[in-house]
Amino acid sequence: MNVVAICAHPDDIEFNCAGTLLKHKEEGDEVVMITVSNGATENHKREIIRSEKNAILEAKRAASIIGAKLYILDYKALDIPCNHKIIGELESIINKHHADTVYTHWHGHTNQDHRRVSMAALAAARCVERVLMWEEGIPHSSCISGFSPQLYVDITGQMDKKMEAVRAHVSQVRKYGKDLMDAIAARARYRGYQIRVKYAECFYVSKLVNDGFLSK
Ligand SMILES: [Zn+2]
Repeated sequence: MNVVAICAHPDDIEFNCAGTLLKHKEEGDEVVMITVSNGATENHKREIIRSEKNAILEAKRAASIIGAKLYILDYKALDIPCNHKIIGELESIINKHHADTVYTHWHGHTNQDHRRVSMAALAAARCVERVLMWEEGIPHSSCISGFSPQLYVDITGQMDKKMEAVRAHVSQVRKYGKDLMDAIAARARYRGYQIRVKYAECFYVSKLVNDGFLSK
């Protein structure tokens, strides 16, 4: 399988679907990560929360832990568009890697960048057989409606390495503190409990072409 994961900011993929990507790698699949912004962020007083240099370093470190090829596009965080240009850029990477599986943000999240990247990824992946949206979980956020997981992935064997990829985002761990790590682990434990394994990640299915459970 050829897998492409598309997110708005460095860390989104690691927090929400790194376990699943690690599982793809273990099974010999190609894994590509696309971060649409370089992750540099300021607060409303224009104070730097995360510098571009730090965000890129952290993203590269996390991608190397996952074993993924990383693309960082040049859109400005908090103001990412959903337009013809970004859809074309995403589509060209999807086509270059012959992707058959795309992971991206859930379309119902409150974060405007997450919603727009979700819609752009959906358009860019319109010819891809599997398009799955991960469960969002950044602090201080809520959702328009409830997230309904439809596909669960057992990540028990990948959990330690997932947390290593999360910890690679030092600036975010510093910003949110130990609560961030606890919350990510607790959510994986809760989703695992639902399917009777130790840890799991779950997804909203946007598209899933039958690849064997029904005869062709
Ligand atoms: Zn984000």
